[in-house]
Amino acid sequence: MTKRIKDILNQENFSKEDLIELMKIDNKEDLDLLFKKAYEIKEKYVGRKVYYRGLIEISNKCIKNCKYCGIRRDNQKVERFSMSKEEIMEAVKWIYENNYASLALQSGERQDEEFVAFIEDLVKTVKEFSNGKLGITLSLGEQSKETYKRWFEAGAHRYLLRIESTNLDIYKHLHPMDNKHLFEVRKRCLEYLREVGYQVGTGVMIGLPNQTEEDLVNDILFYKEMDIDMIGMGPYILHKDTPLGKEWKDIVVSEEKRVELGLKMIAITRILLKDVNIAATTALQGLDPEGREKGLLAGANILMPTATALEHKGKYLLYDNKPGINDSVEKAKEDMDKKVKSIGDEIVYGEWGDSIHFKEKKNKI
Ligand code: SAM
Ligand code: SF4
Repeated sequence: MTKRIKDILNQENFSKEDLIELMKIDNKEDLDLLFKKAYEIKEKYVGRKVYYRGLIEISNKCIKNCKYCGIRRDNQKVERFSMSKEEIMEAVKWIYENNYASLALQSGERQDEEFVAFIEDLVKTVKEFSNGKLGITLSLGEQSKETYKRWFEAGAHRYLLRIESTNLDIYKHLHPMDNKHLFEVRKRCLEYLREVGYQVGTGVMIGLPNQTEEDLVNDILFYKEMDIDMIGMGPYILHKDTPLGKEWKDIVVSEEKRVELGLKMIAITRILLKDVNIAATTALQGLDPEGREKGLLAGANILMPTATALEHKGKYLLYDNKPGINDSVEKAKEDMDKKVKSIGDEIVYGEWGDSIHFKEKKNKI
């Protein structure tokens, strides 16, 4: 087997069958070869550098009802919160003072004008406060093109909207069939984001029941086809108070397998797409205490340490056993610094760390 994997990894171009074969690797020797190759490509195209995005989870109020997510609308057990502008600016200040250079604002989805205007004003305030120095990523769900434009013009320049799964049967199973959770709409939103001018990020959940290696390869091919600049993907984790948390409790593949699949996804995405930004996500660490370091070693180059205020952290629970909910922002930073240094990558402070893929595209125009 090892010989065949070596041969595939030495190619310049990969067929879909090659990628599926890489996704099916299940022995340590071949896994090491895969991760080594991905790390070499990371070093060549984006360097052994890690950029931070200070993550602020600004609200857990959501109009959507995704069947996997702990803060879905119908979960009555959630204590809902929305951070005030002042609270958010406190976190922004901390991120700025710690020289992170970029922040990410994430929340449940809302499309009402009050929310849209709140974000628009917030983005402008962050820009003014930092003299334009803080880069802003938004992850606020599906919106109209007009809304994406308003937030872009206010100063946001990256947007993360995961496609969750490109297998339509799985997508339908992940969401209620109520016409408010449509794959076509989510895909169109990615197109709007591109047209407006954002660096566009997407990703999927990994290790879902009935998801095959071919499905995962199709997800990566979707990133390529959509010319995606940034990838944020991670293993699926059960949440006990969700429909799928109950339905899938006994059939989901082991946590170890989901971490392994998550790492293979990072590695194969790096090998195929080369110069995109790829995050080692919290969910990886949720299933493996060393998940994020392993993610960096498999080719990721972005980390998103949370800067959400301690009093709200415990209410933004997308899945069970979310790591770090009792840690202060200082502790989160300290832990993360140690992890990155332990594998020999350099943490780059004071630079946005924009997607090189996006920059190269712009240079070609
Ligand atoms: N509401 C926005 C949206 O859905 O795009 C942004 C926030 S949402 C909580 C961010 C991401 O969390 C989702 O795209 C989903 O992939 C991930 N997520 C939610 N529940 C999860 C779970 N149980 N396991 C793993 N990831 C989950
Ligand atoms: Fe809401 Fe996003 Fe969770 Fe779906 S994944 S329920 S849109 S927060």
